[in-house]
Amino acid sequence: MKGKLYQYRNWLSYVLLALMFSGPFIKVNGEQLILLNILERKFVFFGVVFWPQDFHIFVLAMLTFIIFIILFTAVFGRVWCGWACPQTIFMEMLFRKIEFWIEGDANKQRKLDASTLTVEKFFKKTAKHTLFLLISFLISNVFLAYVIGLEPLIKIIEEPITLHIYGFSAIIIFTAAFYLVFSYLREVVCTVICPYGRLQGVLLDKKSLVVAYDYERGEPRGKLKKNTSGYVNTGDCIDCNICVQVCPTGIDIRHGTQLECINCTLCIDACDMVMEKINRPQRLIGFKSQEQISSKQAFRFSKRIYGYAAILGVLISVLSFLLISRSDIETVILRAGGTLYQERPDGTVSNLYNVELINKTSDPVKFELLPVEKGTSIQFIRKEDTIGKGKSVKLTFFIIKPQKDIAEYKSEIGLKVLSKGRTVEELSTTFIAPPNF
Ligand code: SF4
Ligand code: SF4
Repeated sequence: MKGKLYQYRNWLSYVLLALMFSGPFIKVNGEQLILLNILERKFVFFGVVFWPQDFHIFVLAMLTFIIFIILFTAVFGRVWCGWACPQTIFMEMLFRKIEFWIEGDANKQRKLDASTLTVEKFFKKTAKHTLFLLISFLISNVFLAYVIGLEPLIKIIEEPITLHIYGFSAIIIFTAAFYLVFSYLREVVCTVICPYGRLQGVLLDKKSLVVAYDYERGEPRGKLKKNTSGYVNTGDCIDCNICVQVCPTGIDIRHGTQLECINCTLCIDACDMVMEKINRPQRLIGFKSQEQISSKQAFRFSKRIYGYAAILGVLISVLSFLLISRSDIETVILRAGGTLYQERPDGTVSNLYNVELINKTSDPVKFELLPVEKGTSIQFIRKEDTIGKGKSVKLTFFIIKPQKDIAEYKSEIGLKVLSKGRTVEELSTTFIAPPNF
């Protein structure tokens, strides 16, 4: 294809491929740009580390992402599939181009497949599948770099296989899976397997922008006929079938919006070239809503879109607040089990506590735990002042208050965690002591 939209898709896919392959090598705050380590339950986005303690943020972020996808699909249809989905990008921009380069265009490929085995056929098929396997191996490595991290992956590559049986097996299994997908399954992934594709039926409505054939303009279709004053035909569609031939999922978009359409826009480019040749306006097939075609009105958002946008706005606001207010150290404090209070000979009362401090940053953190109220002090049984990167420490300590300051049996008491002279976490707990009458 040589159309404008195909060129845009080409450029976008180069950028996305470059980003995907370079992603594991880019470091922000000493962390990989994006890491989705499900095994260690560690997630990194743009240098910010999220641990299991941030699960509520993770759930909210997933919810926000799902609403965004629903909103995006309701407005723009399945444009993600054709323009940004890794499956389409690898298939159309890498594997299919290699296939064209080695075996020629679709007709030549069909002939080659139907022919008996010759030296040329053997050479071409071997070259193609060797390249497919190599690229699948490369994708498998990059994929693992996003899941387990670049450093562990390099270890698997550099050290003896016997030390990394599971890691090595994962590389081989993913290589086989990618090879199977890009060599044999291909568009079946988009039309049958992908759950997002299956959801189109409920996400789209008549106001959604989709790749659509303007039947009002195109019908009644028919071959071009010549008369004395030039070419004549009734509708603009000359039934040349080129839009069907270029379609990677093999559908005829003139039958209406279909589940198999991945919005790759190849049929738009193909039909535009035909329209140019027969001197008709372009975009007989284009990005249009069904309502636009039937009512010939400009594109308008539906009430559903405003509803989704409002929900998305609220979710983004809450998520932003949680991210901004997220502290570097998370603290969980509990009164020591089975204890009440201890009256001391110096006229003070103490309560025993356990505290766990979790470092959510990608550096070791020095900290100090202090009481908020004047006159109150802390006595540590086991003290530490540094938490390792991504680690936690557990401390046990007494909070001590003068008996004369105690007004009620159970009161709230405040503590603060300081790091680099800055308060990073404030917490409160209960303090039990006999009141001073
Ligand atoms: S490419 Fe355009 S003119 Fe040709 S069959 Fe498809 S819709 Fe009709
Ligand atoms: S009908 Fe086929 S060629 Fe046209 S956008 Fe959909 S998948 Fe692509």
